[in-house]
Amino acid sequence: MQPLTNRSKVVVNKEMTWKERMYLPAIIGGMRITFSHLFKKKATISYPEVQREFSEIYRGQHVLKRDENGAERCTACGLCAVACPAEAITMTASERKKGEEKLYREEKYASVYDINMLRCIFCGLCEEACPKEAIFLTDRIVPTDFKRKEFIYGKDKLVEDVNERIDISKRQTKEVLDFKQNKNLQHNKLK
Ligand code: SF4
Ligand code: SF4
Repeated sequence: MQPLTNRSKVVVNKEMTWKERMYLPAIIGGMRITFSHLFKKKATISYPEVQREFSEIYRGQHVLKRDENGAERCTACGLCAVACPAEAITMTASERKKGEEKLYREEKYASVYDINMLRCIFCGLCEEACPKEAIFLTDRIVPTDFKRKEFIYGKDKLVEDVNERIDISKRQTKEVLDFKQNKNLQHNKLK
């Protein structure tokens, strides 16, 4: 029969030699490889007792930041949700009422803000899109869980505690700051 490509091989069911039937050379070869791995540096670590060093710009669990007075920075503009390629962010915008100035920085705020951590691919585009410096990714790992609904992170998990601020300054390398500055310039030009 005419072969379809020139890559086809004729398989011959040839008889094994006496040496091959002993299997000993193959077993010794396999054992040699196994023993050689005993003296190599382990590729695994005993997590969580031992943790690997993270890159300074590692992208982990998000934080919704407060300003210097403790008010929430997010104005529920929705740009992060639009930028999110995984459609992981949903929010509900509300009007700030009189007397809530200390809670929310601007007239509009997110009364509901959810991130579905099962959808999130930790790309960081929400952080880049935010004009209010309200959302940042941090070096925190999203913990595992058994129920899917536990991975919908609401404001209770995302907004930073007013007394325990989350330091994101380490991630703000010169390249990141330059990028944000250029983006803000372009944003202002379009206004
Ligand atoms: S990190 Fe990326 S995928 Fe995750 S919420 Fe932000 S934009 Fe969406
Ligand atoms: S986190 Fe930033 S981009 Fe997202 S809704 Fe709030 S202010 Fe807008």
